[in-house]
Amino acid sequence: MDVADQAQDTEQLERDNAIRNAHRIPRRVPIDKVCIDCGYEIEAKRREANPGTKRCIDCQTEHEGGGA
Ligand SMILES: [Zn+2]
Repeated sequence: MDVADQAQDTEQLERDNAIRNAHRIPRRVPIDKVCIDCGYEIEAKRREANPGTKRCIDCQTEHEGGGA
């Protein structure tokens, strides 16, 4: 692992920790399973349909400027 990879890794960890702290997400809950906006766990169905999604359906809709 070179320095750039390491830096990116640390950055990722710090971001994850910030999200955890902001939403009080327990350590046992994988950070990639929760919404980065509200901190609630993202539905398994949604994660299966949208691999790599970082928001729950509500926050994603809001993020995309929907709300119609
Ligand atoms: Zn959300």
